[in-house]
Amino acid sequence: MSPPTTPFNLKTTLQGILGATMKSAVNAFLAGQGQEDYVYNAHSYLEVKSLVNNLSAPGTIHINPNDVAAFADTLNISYLSALKSVLVHEIGHAQYATSDLTAYSGDPAKMADWCYQREGEAAAFAFKVTTELVATGGYLSVAGPPSMPDLYSVMVAAV
Ligand SMILES: [Zn+2]
Repeated sequence: MSPPTTPFNLKTTLQGILGATMKSAVNAFLAGQGQEDYVYNAHSYLEVKSLVNNLSAPGTIHINPNDVAAFADTLNISYLSALKSVLVHEIGHAQYATSDLTAYSGDPAKMADWCYQREGEAAAFAFKVTTELVATGGYLSVAGPPSMPDLYSVMVAAV
């Protein structure tokens, strides 16, 4: 599928993801930064001027709409559902901002550890959010690597 070409409200989308853990995290996220800075750029990325994921530009979440669309295709879910999963993942990074905003040192030997910690934290947060959604009859996939695009069942089996 192609990403939507019409603007939509990222703040409302974030706030619409239910569950106590996500609500608390989103409220903290929004409280810390200027809400007016939400931008939808149909050509390259969703940009949220706040903490998080792109360490080359701390304070901004970069999400490529084409990547979200590919993720949606992989899981055969709607664009919005895929976007929500990605947003939960990125808010997960915000929850661990202190460690996640520690830039990669450039030491190749430490690259894997750096990645595993950051992505593990975000995945653990997303798993908690989805666990709360499942308890109320909802669901969001837990964004994972290409070989395991939805980590939820994998994580359920592991705990
Ligand atoms: Zn991540």
